[in-house]
Formats: sequence, C-alpha cells, structure tokens
Amino acid sequence: MKKIILCKFGEIALKGANRAYFEKLLKVELKRRLRNFGKFKIYSAQSTVYIEPLEDSCDMDFAYRAAKNTFGVSAVQMALEVPKDMDAILFAVGTEFMPYIEDAKTFKVEAKRSDKKFPLESPEICKLVGGAILEACHGRKKVDVHTPEVCVRVEIRDYAAYICAGQERAIGGMPQGSNGKGLLLLSGGIDSPVAGYQMAKRGVKIESLHFESFPYTSERAKEKVLDLANKVASYSGEMNVHVISLTHIQEVMRDTIEEDYFTLILRRFMMRLAMKVAKKFYCDAVITGESIGQVASQTMQALVVTDIISEIPVFRPLIGNDKEDIIKIAREIDTFETSILPYEDCCTVFTPRHPKTRPELDKVVAQEEKLDVDALVEEAFATLETIVVTGLD
Ligand code: ATP
Ligand code: MG
Repeated sequence: MKKIILCKFGEIALKGANRAYFEKLLKVELKRRLRNFGKFKIYSAQSTVYIEPLEDSCDMDFAYRAAKNTFGVSAVQMALEVPKDMDAILFAVGTEFMPYIEDAKTFKVEAKRSDKKFPLESPEICKLVGGAILEACHGRKKVDVHTPEVCVRVEIRDYAAYICAGQERAIGGMPQGSNGKGLLLLSGGIDSPVAGYQMAKRGVKIESLHFESFPYTSERAKEKVLDLANKVASYSGEMNVHVISLTHIQEVMRDTIEEDYFTLILRRFMMRLAMKVAKKFYCDAVITGESIGQVASQTMQALVVTDIISEIPVFRPLIGNDKEDIIKIAREIDTFETSILPYEDCCTVFTPRHPKTRPELDKVVAQEEKLDVDALVEEAFATLETIVVTGLD
C-alpha cells in the first residue's frame, strides 16, 4: 500500500490528436519540480498524471504542493494505491485510509470501475467501502449522500485500485512551453511579474528582459528584479533573465532631445532592443505589464508610438485591468511585497516633468533623428548578460 499523488488534467483533456504532446510537457515539468523532494515515477493514464514515490524518503507533502502549483494541473488528490482486490481495498480503507477523512463527520462513497473485468460492480463496491468506514470509525461518522463533508472515491483502474478523499483545485492553465515563447519586459514594478505569470499560465514559455541604468539604478534594484523573476519562474519554469544597460542611451538622450519626449523615446529604444533579444532567443512575441491609461506612456496614442517599432506581436495581458485587480493577483502569486520595495527603475531616471500623453509620431521621429539610433542600439545590445533563474528554492 502506498501513497500516491493524482493530478487531473484541465484543458489538456480536451485536446485531440496532440494531447500526448501536452501530457509530455506536463510530465517533464513535474519531474523538474519534484527533483528536490526525492525519486518519483511520473506517468499518465486515463486523463490523470500519477506521481509515485520510489523511495521512503520522498517528501509527499512538498511534492503535492508543487504539483498543485504546476500549470496544466486542474486538481490534485493524495490517494492510496492498493492491489485490485476487494479484501485489500477494504483493509486499506479501515486502516491507513482513515486519517484522510479524520475531520469529516459525514461522507459518501463513489466508485468508478475503468476495469470492467473487476468482479464487483460500482454500487457493490460503494456499499462495502461505506460499511468498512462505518465500522472503523465506531459510529463517529454518518453517510450523507446529498451534502457529505467528504466524498470518498474508489477507482478501479488498469493496474491498481486507488482510494482517495476529496480533491483540491489546482492552479489550472496549460503546461509550460505548450504555447510558444514570449519575451517579458520585466521591471521591478507590480505589473510586469503579473503579466508574465498570466501568459505563463496559458502555456507560454517566458524569457525576461530587464533594462538597468547603472549607476542611476543600483545593484540592489537588479537583485530585486532577479527575485521577482525567480518568483515568476516558480510558476512558469526555469527562465532566462536578460539584462541590458540603458545608461549611455539615457545620458545621450538627456543631452540631446526635448525632455517631454524622453519617456516615449526611451520606450522605443526598449522595444528595438527587445526585437534583437527576441530574435536571438527565438521568442515569438513581447509581453509587457502595461494597462491602458495607467501612466503617460500607457495612453492609447503612446502605446501606438512604441508598438510601431515592434515586428512581432506585443501582448499586454493586463491592458484592461484596474491596478487593484493587478495587486490582488500580485499578492496571490507572492510578488507584491518584493515589487513594492523602494528601489529605482530606469524609467524613473531623468523623468520628464510633463511627459507627452498624446504624442504625434512625426514629432517623436523628428526628435529621434537627432540621435544615431542604430549605433546606440548596437552599443546597448553589446551589454547583454543572461542569468538563469530556476524558480526552485
Ligand atoms: P511595472 O509595475 O511592471 O513596473 P509600471 O506601471 O511601472 O509597470 P511602466 O514603468 O510605464 O509601468 O512600464 C510599463 C511596462 O514596461 C512594464 O510593465 C514593463 O513591462 C516594461 N518596463 C518598464 N520598465 C522596465 C525595465 N526597467 N526593464 C524592462 N521592462 C520594463
Ligand atoms: Mg515600472
């Protein structure tokens, strides 16, 4: 008799011919996440991924939590695996299984028989298992078929029988890497980690690009961004974090262009550099944490002026969200407290007093013509460094 974790698929179960591909990605990611908690066998059958411990020292509680937070898993259950034999099932129910339903005062039993060769039918299995529970709890629990506190499920499958109680909702989404690769523009703020999380939840593999402006931004500001990247990676999977210095670009801009255009032109430089990084690391889209109207550079007109630079789609999953909604998610995914640490961002270096909120493209371009844009971009791109974060503690 052994404990085993059952992970139910969400949307993957609806996939047709390429379902095996999604399942494989999910299993690979589960394997990576569980590697610190012992040796496990991870396999799938009948819309479920099974996580089976291969040694006594496996930490099942940590493995359970990790599985619950893996994109692609819609529900998790701790179960007991027992031989496909009614006596063995009843013995397990009356002994090792009882702690699983310790707190429940009422229960019902459901049985599912995928293996139709099993000698007993589902109603009989339910009756026998219910009886075994009543006997083992000495009258402290009652059967309630309408609103039970816990539902005990017995599943007779191809290789074994599984007994489990209840099931917990897991994080959902799609397995990482199943929907292309996106380049997340990651600042130290509240929004961009949430944007990365949202896209990763849909199966997009995330690479991050952070712009720094040392010494105007500090080493600690960069560490904060790496902490945030690590938190996003705890959901999205191992991630490359690219860092590019904008210091020289910003200094040249400060000395050359009209202050009011500063933020916009800086954002256009960011986008040009993002194109180069996306190309080099095979990203199919750019992702930002922008939300319409949040600040001057996020008016519709300002977004248009930056978008024009991009040769690939720019996804802004938070575009229609209020700040309060974004903060709620940031708290849920545990990035909020890090995001509000008060370190500088390159966007706040040389900030204009009156940034343009309704920029006209020809005026922006006229300002940019004072600069050797291509040379500045090449020079900044040469500062690229890449750090890998695993998201595992
Ligand atoms: P955030 O909370 O994510 O910092 P914000 O509301 O502060 O967003 P802005 O500073 O205007 O907004 O930035 C808008 C978006 O531009 C960010 O969500 C992020 O995707 C990107 N961005 C801003 N600063 C940087 C940076 N230093 N490095 C990389 N991307 C950045
Ligand atoms: Mg910011």
